[in-house]
Parts: sequence; C-alpha cells; structure tokens
Amino acid sequence: MMPQMFKATLKQKTTLSPKATGLTLQLIEPTKIEFNPGQFVNLKVADAVYRAYSIASPCAQQDKIFLIVTTSHEGVGSEYVRNLHIGDEVTFIGPSGKLHLKEKHSKAIYFFATGSGIAPFISMLEQLACDNYSGKIHLFFGVRHPEEVLCLDELTGLKKRLKDFTIDFYVSNPQDDFMGVKGRVTAAIPNITDFNADFYLCGHPQMVEDVNTALKAKGVPDENIICEGFTKTLK
Ligand SMILES: Cc1cc2nc3c(=O)[nH]c(=O)nc-3n(C[C@H](O)[C@H](O)[C@H](O)COP(=O)(O)OP(=O)(O)OC[C@H]3O[C@@H](n4cnc5c(N)ncnc54)[C@H](O)[C@@H]3O)c2cc1C
Repeated sequence: MMPQMFKATLKQKTTLSPKATGLTLQLIEPTKIEFNPGQFVNLKVADAVYRAYSIASPCAQQDKIFLIVTTSHEGVGSEYVRNLHIGDEVTFIGPSGKLHLKEKHSKAIYFFATGSGIAPFISMLEQLACDNYSGKIHLFFGVRHPEEVLCLDELTGLKKRLKDFTIDFYVSNPQDDFMGVKGRVTAAIPNITDFNADFYLCGHPQMVEDVNTALKAKGVPDENIICEGFTKTLK
C-alpha cells in the first residue's frame, strides 16, 4: 500500500513505563489502513514536522493503530504526545518502511529490540501467531532499568500462542539487587549457537549497528539481517 494521509482521533492513551506512552488512534478518514507488520507511520507533531512511529498493533486490525512512543526526553514529538488528550484529532502519513517479515522462514528467528524498538516486533509476532508459526523464535529485549520493559502482557499472551517462543530481558543499568540478566543485548551474541537464522533488529541506532556488526563477524549474510535504527533519517 502506498503511503497516504490519515486523520484519526486519540481513543486511548496509556502510560506503559516511566519512559513510554501508548497511543490508540481510531481512524476517521480514511477509516481503514492496510500495512505490513513492521511498518511505521509519520505522525504530524508540529507544523510541517513529522516523527516516525512503528505500528505495534496487528495488521488484521485496520480501523485503529497502536503506537509506542518514548516520551521521557525534551523533543518535539515527545512533547506533542505528552500533551495529547483523548478525543484530539491527529494526522499521520503511512504506512512506510521496509522492516518486513520474510515471506517464508525455514530457520530460527531472532528478534533484538531495545526500548520502543519492541513496537514493530509486537505486530510481527502477532502475525506469526496468526499464521500458527511453529518454528523457533527468540526475543532479546534490552532496557536500561527493569521498569522500562514494555508490553509484558502482550508478550506473555504471545508466548501462549506461539509454540516455541522464548524471551531474554537484558537490563543495562539495574539496581545492585537486580536478579535478572545484567548488560546489553549485544552480550547475547556469543551465546547463540545457530547463526543459520533470520535476525530482526530494531531500536537504538547504536544497538542496531553493534548487533549488525557482530552478526556479520559471525558470518551471517546481509539477507538474513533485517534492521531498523530509530534515527531521524527515514528511508
Ligand atoms: C523508522 C522509524 C521508526 C521509529 N519508531 C519509533 C517508535 O515506534 N517509537 C518511538 O518512540 N520512536 C520511534 N522512532 C524515533 C522517532 O521517530 C523520533 O526520532 C524520536 O522519538 C525522537 O523524536 P522527538 O521529536 O521526540 O525528539 P527530537 O526533537 O527529534 O530530539 C530532541 C532531542 O532528544 C534527543 N532524543 C531523541 N530520542 C531520544 C530518546 N529516545 N531518549 C532520549 N533522548 C532522545 C535527541 O538526541 C535530541 O537531542 C522511529 C524512528 C524511525 C526512523
């Protein structure tokens, strides 16, 4: 589907973590959107200013979309979203982006996400669950603090629907008494035994670059690394 302009109203606004806000946008004009899991929309956040946000909802749900927006910093998009109220009208252009699930997976799938980089993967995992995908899927999800983990309910639900789906949470800046895995998701790479797999990377540009470089050093070919860094430059 070619990107087009949409008008929508803010139906629901949720505090997902100290850093992230969830937005449910009900489409008004047009009333439906077709997209591929992994794609994003460009939300109008000021006059002639747009910010890209990945669609975190299933593509089967066409009358509304769910976005996960980092709102903890001083930024144009962040401030716009912080000031949005239920019922406000918003404009966005989409869908865009080349972060797509491969049509066929014959090997294991690894997802690497940091922070709101989990958003497109929720939509992709929903698709895999709808397709009754039964192959191995592993998610490495990195945050700075434990309370910044996002979409735990969705991930727990997806674990029940997907036959072989496992998750490791990495926390880079925990309190001293933290019991989980400490460190960045890049630390997971030496523990992977099967590099004949498809790797999807999304989130902080530095993480995407570091994991990409490490995977290439392990001999993973370009076509098996599908990635999107959350930079301002839109491709
Ligand atoms: C394809 C694509 C998809 C994206 N999807 C999402 C998504 O689903 N959710 C999402 O939240 N973002 C996503 N982004 C990033 C988003 O588009 C914005 O670039 C980002 O949210 C910052 O925009 P802003 O207007 O709030 O800050 P800006 O006004 O652009 O920046 C202001 C200042 O804040 C700093 N800053 C920017 N981001 C952060 C941050 N996360 N933490 C701390 N400081 C920061 C900047 O370095 C700058 O100094 C995506 C980006 C791309 C390219």
